[in-house]
Amino acid sequence: MKLFDLHCDTITGLETVGLHLDNDVAAISFKKLEKSGISAYAQCFAMFLDDKYRGQAAIEKWDRAYKWFLKQLALYPNQMEQVLTGADIDRITEAGKIAAILTTESGAAFAGQLERIEELRKKGCLLTSLTWNGDTEIGGGVYTPEIGLTSFGKEAVAEMERVGMVVDISHLCDKAVDDFLKIHQKPFLASHSNCRTVCNAARNLTNEYIQEIVHCKGLIGINYLIYFLREGDPENAGTSDVIHHIEHLLKLGAENVIALGSDFDGAKVPVEFDSIDKMGTLYTACEKTLGTEITEKIFYENAREFFRRNF
Ligand SMILES: [Zn+2]
Repeated sequence: MKLFDLHCDTITGLETVGLHLDNDVAAISFKKLEKSGISAYAQCFAMFLDDKYRGQAAIEKWDRAYKWFLKQLALYPNQMEQVLTGADIDRITEAGKIAAILTTESGAAFAGQLERIEELRKKGCLLTSLTWNGDTEIGGGVYTPEIGLTSFGKEAVAEMERVGMVVDISHLCDKAVDDFLKIHQKPFLASHSNCRTVCNAARNLTNEYIQEIVHCKGLIGINYLIYFLREGDPENAGTSDVIHHIEHLLKLGAENVIALGSDFDGAKVPVEFDSIDKMGTLYTACEKTLGTEITEKIFYENAREFFRRNF
């Protein structure tokens, strides 16, 4: 099994408690990877900014998380390496290492300064979500549905596209997504969002947004958070719910854009696949229902192709 995961909060979480990837507390760890049966592994590590961070405090929080990311690379050069170009993914995974991708969760990390975008891109930040749940200098998140993209937000999107940082629409409110769709030029993605038709949550994507992502050849990472997987009785969410979301996406022609966005170490997820050593459970369930070819696309190939095309 190969695994490409578009979103986790592991590094930010480890930074706050002063632990490294060699511990076994987090959902992602070297020990769990060893027993996972994963043969090639690319992981996006989000530098996550809670909505309490803005301005200089947001810059400092991002820097602390980034330093922790760099520290993991320095401590474990034989286990992981940072992805800077699309071609790096095959080279790093073939060397038996984790292909580690630096991403940012919340454009608050730009602190309202356009020049921060190129600065972060030069550090290898390949994806950035424009908000978390609240509004940022860029626009409104799901908790502020009345706020679209600001004028700074429109400039920020153009600058991200100029420097080659892909826009992640996960967490944006619909009004801001609508504004974004009017101005974007390049492929974009939703790193950890599901289908609103299957589970009615503001964090999930409407059919229209799914179709826009299909059209631009972006990516949709399935989020394992129980409240985004299943309505009514989320406590019983499991592999069948992931498959329902995938089947809905397939009906919308999304075969080549479906991926995974676990939200590990940032969300309450089903116990049966709550860490990377249990991904075989999800893989087997998907393979049984959807077949090997589609399962491999979802678990790895679609994201690998996107990164090869765009970075
Ligand atoms: Zn998130």
